[in-house]
Amino acid sequence: MDQLTARELRDKIAAGQISSAQVTEAIFDLIEQRDTNIGAYISTMRESALAQAADVDKRIAAGQPVGTLAGVPIAIKDNMCTKGHATTCASKILQNFVPPYDACVVEKLKAADAVIVGKCNLDEFAMGSSTENSGLKQTRNPWNTNCVPGGSSGGSAAAVAAELCYAALGSDTGGSIRQPAGFCGVVGLKPTYGRVSRYGLVAYGSSLDQIGPITNNVTDAALMLNVIAGHDERDSTSISEETAALSDYLADIDKPLENLKIGVAKEFWQVEGLHNDVEQAVRAALKTYEQLGAQLVDVSLPHLEYAIATYYLIATAEASSNLARYDGVHYGHRTAEPKDYIDVYNSSRAEGFGEEVKRRIMLGTYALSSGYYDAYYLKALKVRNLIRQDFNQAFERVDCLMCPVSPEPAFEIGSKVNDPLTMYLSDIYTIAVNLAGIPGISIPCGFSENNLPIGLQIISGNFSEDKLLRIARMYEQQTDWHQRKPSF
Ligand code: GLN
Repeated sequence: MDQLTARELRDKIAAGQISSAQVTEAIFDLIEQRDTNIGAYISTMRESALAQAADVDKRIAAGQPVGTLAGVPIAIKDNMCTKGHATTCASKILQNFVPPYDACVVEKLKAADAVIVGKCNLDEFAMGSSTENSGLKQTRNPWNTNCVPGGSSGGSAAAVAAELCYAALGSDTGGSIRQPAGFCGVVGLKPTYGRVSRYGLVAYGSSLDQIGPITNNVTDAALMLNVIAGHDERDSTSISEETAALSDYLADIDKPLENLKIGVAKEFWQVEGLHNDVEQAVRAALKTYEQLGAQLVDVSLPHLEYAIATYYLIATAEASSNLARYDGVHYGHRTAEPKDYIDVYNSSRAEGFGEEVKRRIMLGTYALSSGYYDAYYLKALKVRNLIRQDFNQAFERVDCLMCPVSPEPAFEIGSKVNDPLTMYLSDIYTIAVNLAGIPGISIPCGFSENNLPIGLQIISGNFSEDKLLRIARMYEQQTDWHQRKPSF
């Protein structure tokens, strides 16, 4: 089946040519057929989705105005709160947690009349690169079900690739939107830190976390960003109202950028383990841009090699603090027969958290402990600044940077689970972007010999998503990678 884009679907629904109820039913049929094998969803919301769809259809029939995403089925990563519907973070500790409120992004989707289909699988608390750290289920890559979908937003990316929704939300702390999008052959956008409110996003690394769209194409990413971006007084790191007011990402999306200067850092090609198929596909994409009139400029990011070490100090430090709230008292899992009140904490946490989460809490607690704080945490903050400066210097000379999303295509399920360090290294191209707070997008740019998708990453300066999306769209207009779909 050839799926419409989210934008086309919305227009057809709004014009009364298709009913949202029909489209939503079709999505649930596909979920039933395909998701036992793919495992993209932790839970679905059939009843409320059909009610939302019916409401949109009714309003359209009555000639009333409808929102930007009227009737379009959307999926949400299960670390964003949905009022009255379980939000698990793929963790046993939150398995029975039902939030009494919606995350800001969920409110915005509802206000835009989107139909919310369900909650997608992830690595527990968004900690991972393959969705194998989920405490609840396995997700498989729709292109090859022996392979991982990437992570941590693996469920969201797999749902979009397998046509089990028209667009999804993910969160990205070190690459968790862009890398799974790359592995599944779809588009993933991590906006500038602060562009999208984190209110109601379960915190992992608060100074790095950012919500963004996973879609079938660049135009739909712009459409989704239009809906979810903006100031929110409930998130103190959210952008100001003035900055928020300036942007309509769809307005100029089809306008190519003239005199485009693309920075290519020599460090990008020196990454250990860079797969030949990935390098070839990215170099070919750069050629396509040159044919479109862009100029390639050599730049340098001398501190890139420290990005992973820096990230794993800062992210784990923040995680150890953020995850202290799961104590068996306030919410989530509580151990059945505690010996005493200390044991409520100890056993609830021991039973509720998975291996990787425990590893990170210990790493972070260590990095923050007195005597080590200066040597590790404070040092990491200083290196973070140097990485930020590297990018700023590059953006004085170029409009954007281009590089792979990940050193290799999707890997086999189980092949890296016993070696966390190798797993951590697979984020080398995405992690520095979060440390700098800048936006990055992953778009499909080819396939490996084994027919697995390859992603091109485009990175630009703070608050330049409009430009970033236009640059990405230039490539998409010239190529058809984004139109290829896995077969079922
Ligand atoms: N893979 C990285 C990690 O394990 C990034 C995860 C993310 O972006 N949430 O932390």
